[in-house]
Amino acid sequence: MARTTRAAIDLSALVSNYHTLAELNSQGQTLAVIKADAYGHGAIAVARALHGHAQRFGVAFVDEARLLREQGITECLVLFEGVYDKTEAQWAVANNCCVVAHREAQLAWLAALDQPPPEVWLKIDTGMHRLGFQPSELAAIWQQYASLFNEHTVLVTHFACADDKAHSLTAKQLTIFQQFLAAHPLPISAANSAGIVQVPQAHGAWNRAGIALYGGQGAPDVATLKPVMTLTAPVIATRTIAEGETVGYGATWTATRESRIATVAIGYGDGYPRHAPSGTTAFCNGVKIELAGRVSMDMLTFDVTGTEIDVGDTVELWGANQSITEVAQNAGTIDYELMTRVSARVPRVYI
Ligand code: PLP
Repeated sequence: MARTTRAAIDLSALVSNYHTLAELNSQGQTLAVIKADAYGHGAIAVARALHGHAQRFGVAFVDEARLLREQGITECLVLFEGVYDKTEAQWAVANNCCVVAHREAQLAWLAALDQPPPEVWLKIDTGMHRLGFQPSELAAIWQQYASLFNEHTVLVTHFACADDKAHSLTAKQLTIFQQFLAAHPLPISAANSAGIVQVPQAHGAWNRAGIALYGGQGAPDVATLKPVMTLTAPVIATRTIAEGETVGYGATWTATRESRIATVAIGYGDGYPRHAPSGTTAFCNGVKIELAGRVSMDMLTFDVTGTEIDVGDTVELWGANQSITEVAQNAGTIDYELMTRVSARVPRVYI
């Protein structure tokens, strides 16, 4: 019998989420963010599933774009980190990729090409302070690289706190962005998932949907988004332990009564978070069960006292019945990290 630990990827849920998010943008189109192997879902499969739905995909850098091109993905790819050297600039333009230019060297490489790129994405740092030109340097940049800019130039920014409705930084970032826009009324790209849902003023030519596409936490208000990934693993052993016995490394969980323990074939080597504490829930045979003891590399253990759960049963670690966000919160992280960390040894099964 094979180890049946799996990440099932529901491609129809993905396509449905894409349309739900795209319909929210009355100002333009929605780019599907498929960087980091489509947040762990498999970039090739996700790109193929979204073919004919999304017109463009977002990736982080050229090597991610190359992998997609090698597998026959033809859609325009937007490179969020831009390019790292002149050779990459040449490759990007020759391969239908839009460069997000966030520092001057990138503009210089693009300007030195035989054929200028038809469309440059110019990134403005409005307050995230990670990538982008400072508003104060934009006028000079605009003048110096005038040959690169035209009516297709997309003005880009990224929000630091769009997921927090109460945070004042989003409005501040928007104001800074709009100041430059007033002088250069161009297509924009500003909204990520949280921006799509919570900041309609930021919608524009290209919204950028990442986590919400996969049914993750970026979009708490959109009830119709569906989880795309379901992570499951089989019960491979059970035992009954006496009150006072402990379970797992460090003996961190102690049975407060006679308890049945189920050992499940998934661990931090598969991407389940090691810091998920005892009490973190999963779903099996219609009931919620609680993690008991530390997560090991290949296995973890649940308290299944009072249930019929037995060897061969399937435990859902996250998916439709067990929120990935809840697991992430318990483990002190975010669902983005959990999705992207499902390791290569977990087969992705596309349904
Ligand atoms: N745009 C940029 C520049 C990003 O770095 C990301 C993700 O990190 C996204 C859009 C998508 O963000 P989200 O997954 O929150 O939708």
